[in-house]
Amino acid sequence: MASQITQNIDILKKSQQLDSEIYQSRLSLEEIPAQRTKLKSDLELEKTRLGELDKTLKDIQLKLKNKELELAQKEGQIKKLDGQLSQVKTNKEYGALQQEIASLKADNSLLEEEIIHILDEVEAAKEEAQKEKEKFALVSKSFQGKDDEFVAQEKTLRERLVELETQRKEAVAHLPPELGDLYSRIASKKQGLALALVNGEACTACQMQIRPQLINEIRLGDHIVVCENCSRILYFES
Ligand SMILES: [Zn+2]
Repeated sequence: MASQITQNIDILKKSQQLDSEIYQSRLSLEEIPAQRTKLKSDLELEKTRLGELDKTLKDIQLKLKNKELELAQKEGQIKKLDGQLSQVKTNKEYGALQQEIASLKADNSLLEEEIIHILDEVEAAKEEAQKEKEKFALVSKSFQGKDDEFVAQEKTLRERLVELETQRKEAVAHLPPELGDLYSRIASKKQGLALALVNGEACTACQMQIRPQLINEIRLGDHIVVCENCSRILYFES
C-alpha cells in the first residue's frame, strides 16, 4: 500500500514538473501579443513624432519665406518712394514721403531681426528633425527582427505545449482516476503547483505548520493528505 502511494507521489511529481512548465509556457505565450503590440506602437510613435517635427520645420520655413517676401515688398516700396522724392513739388509732400520712407525702414529693421530669429528656429528644427530621422531609422530597422523573433517564439512555445500536454496526459493516466482528478483540480488553481513538500512539520508551499496527526498520516502513507491551509498534496522527500 505504502509503495503504491510512493509510486503515485513520483507520478505526481513528474506531472507537476510538466504542469509547471505548461503554466509558464502559457504565460509566456499570453504575453506575446501585448509585446508585439507594444513594439509596433513604439514604431508608430516614432513615426508620428517624425511627422510632427517635419511639419514644424515646414511651418517655420513657410513663416521665414513670408517674412522675406514682406521685407522684399517693403524694400520695393522704399525704392519707389525714394524715386518720387525728386518729383514732389511742396515741402509738405516731401516731408510726408520722407516720413513714409522712415516708417517703412523702421518696419524693415524689425523684420530683419525677426528673420534672423526665425533662421535660428529653422536650424534648431532641422537638427531636431534629423535626430528623430536617425532614431526612427534605428527603431524601424530593429522592429522587423524583433517581431520575427516574437513570431518564432510563439511557434516554439505552441509546439512545446503540445508535447508537454501529451506527456502530462500520459503521466496522469497512470494515477488512480480520483487522484488524477484531485491533482488536476488543485494544479489548475495553483498555477501548476499541486504538490507541497513537507519540511520538518511545515508545508513548504504556504509555510503553515501541519498538525501532528496529519504528519503521521503522511508518514504512514496509506492515503493522500492535503495541506489544510493551501490544499496542496503533501509529501515527504523519500
Ligand atoms: Zn500548504
